[in-house]
Amino acid sequence: MMMAYTVTNPYTKEVIASYEVASQAEVDQALQRAQAYYLATKGQPVEKRAQKLLKLVDLMEERKEQLAKIASLSMGKLIGQARSEVDLCLEILRYYAARGPQMLRAKPYLYGARQEAFLHYEASGIVLAVEPWNFPYSQVIRVLAPNYLLGNPVILKHAGQVATCARALEELAVEADLGTGAFKNLFLSYQQVDNLLADCRVSGLAVTGSSQVGKMLAGKAAANLVKLSLELGGNDAFLVLADADVKKAAHDAVKARLRNSGQVCTAPKRLILAKEIATEFCDLLKKELAQLKLGNPLDEATTLAPLASEAALTNLTKQVTAACENGAQVLVEGGPVAEMAGYFFKPVVLRGLTPDNPMYDQEFFGPVFQIYQAQDEAEMVTIANESQYGLAGAVYSQDKVHADELAQKLSTGQVFINQPATSHPELPFGGVKNSGYGRELSDLGLYEFANCKIIAW
Ligand code: NAP
Repeated sequence: MMMAYTVTNPYTKEVIASYEVASQAEVDQALQRAQAYYLATKGQPVEKRAQKLLKLVDLMEERKEQLAKIASLSMGKLIGQARSEVDLCLEILRYYAARGPQMLRAKPYLYGARQEAFLHYEASGIVLAVEPWNFPYSQVIRVLAPNYLLGNPVILKHAGQVATCARALEELAVEADLGTGAFKNLFLSYQQVDNLLADCRVSGLAVTGSSQVGKMLAGKAAANLVKLSLELGGNDAFLVLADADVKKAAHDAVKARLRNSGQVCTAPKRLILAKEIATEFCDLLKKELAQLKLGNPLDEATTLAPLASEAALTNLTKQVTAACENGAQVLVEGGPVAEMAGYFFKPVVLRGLTPDNPMYDQEFFGPVFQIYQAQDEAEMVTIANESQYGLAGAVYSQDKVHADELAQKLSTGQVFINQPATSHPELPFGGVKNSGYGRELSDLGLYEFANCKIIAW
């Protein structure tokens, strides 16, 4: 049988695990159990499921170190950042356990001559979650926690690179006694994903990944009338206005851009600087980059880990080469690190990317900074919005009200003021344009795959 799910340690390049693709019998059983769970859960109190989410919290907290280590070995995340990812999962689970039941209460509506109706947030059926390797736990929990609370069973197709993380999550769900059929990890082939989308028991598809894969799966979901949420790529702008605290802005930009070795959808990939502070900002940026320590992701002293895979390294290297061949200038030199065994890429700072450069507005998924210097704020907004993507962004200014005015002009799903974009359980997360549609987290994430059903009296 085909061994399609292979986990390669990006630091040592050793294959550390491989898993067989799911058999047809496993897929059939998962569907049958998930559907049985969906039907059996109708009408059951949501509070009971909230308690189970808290059980999962206890287990994940207890296994934090082990989970963090698996993620670090599988995709190269710094161990400290891997622990933080587990912490984020705990926050999401606690948020939905505490706040979800209230959000799912029926909502009254009036119609006609003072007649009453109630909107009930009900489960809609099986949700298939197709998830990426960069946040192997939290991306799954973002879909699982709200849908479990709602009563939607979740079938997971995770990225091959983090198959061991997927398996660890499934084991925890079993131990937390979420219920047979409530959550199932399957090592699916692409064809099996297509088959699931064509199965009438599957009612929702949550995709997190590249825009290219998102578009392709969106077409298949649409053909089967499967409801969809798409959390896709980004090329986020980070605006530093003339009156900003430049030191803080430069420090935040470096920290956020290099988190997860630059492999974050909401990383500040385009730094758009007011001309008054551009030189100071770039000097600070260079100083911060000079202090990085590349090394073993499990070593607490390491500050920059390798990229997740050989494909990631090859792709990023090609993108930087193409950007330079088409006119971009290198402000800070970097690139693949030949003397180190793993898939290391030293940060590169580029400037002078113009709209005619084929790499302009491409997502560089790794430690590459793009610098844009703007004449005025109107130009800053124009550059920010000149993008196929619209995920998040940041605006730095001492005048928060003014920063808010600029934030409202950005065509993205989220903007953060004087802080880099990141995710919080309480805040809706998602984008517009090629960054996708739909929202995860918050109350909106809970309603994304709900059957909003009216019962009119
Ligand atoms: P990807 O290549 O698009 O893969 C994402 C998932 O789709 C993986 O599970 C992958 O499985 C699966 N997949 C790929 N082709 C498929 C097909 N033909 N049929 C069914 N499934 C398929 O993305 P990635 O490289 O893993 O992740 C990086 C991208 O995700 C970046 O663009 C990043 O910005 C984006 N991202 C977005 C968010 C957000 O919330 N907006 C969060 C994190 C990441 P295999 O591994 O088996 O190919």
